[in-house]
Amino acid sequence: MIKAIYPGSFDPVTNGHLDIIKRAAKLVDRLIVSVLENPHKSYALFTVEERIAHLKQVTKDIGNVEVSSFKGLLVDYAKQIDANVVIRGLRAVTDFESEFQMALTNRSLMQELETLFIPTSIEYLYLSSSTLKEVAMFGGNICSMIPCDIKQDVLDKFAKQGE
Ligand code: ADP
Repeated sequence: MIKAIYPGSFDPVTNGHLDIIKRAAKLVDRLIVSVLENPHKSYALFTVEERIAHLKQVTKDIGNVEVSSFKGLLVDYAKQIDANVVIRGLRAVTDFESEFQMALTNRSLMQELETLFIPTSIEYLYLSSSTLKEVAMFGGNICSMIPCDIKQDVLDKFAKQGE
């Protein structure tokens, strides 16, 4: 059985992430989308719980997807849940170097853990959670960047911050 983990910040989940989730779910038996509780990202827009709720909402119709969160090393979490594959999305070449480094590091720590890179769909090539947040902060239209279900949450969050 292939049990894969798709780790990330997902602050918030974008259409680029969702595209990777849908495509990865077709390749593996079980896909665990897991929010990294990153102590260095204290400037996060959404709490880990909010990000988990968003991910659950947008993946509710995909049968083999579960959502979780983890702290610390990815390899430790992979061992804990018995995952043997890591899914990562690749956008431009700029993603490549750090992703490659991370994949090799993880494999040196856990030989049986393979990283599977899925290239982005062309329409999401320039999409990241930070771009989305910047557009939303200045009142731009984020409809094509984010799943409809959570768009309002992003707009509300910025409206609250502006009060
Ligand atoms: P980070 O790991 O930098 O915190 P994210 O949490 O936003 O990044 O993303 C998690 C994973 O999703 C990474 O592998 C990232 O490359 C990938 N990803 C992010 N945005 C896209 C996109 N638009 N298309 C494809 N993959 C993406």
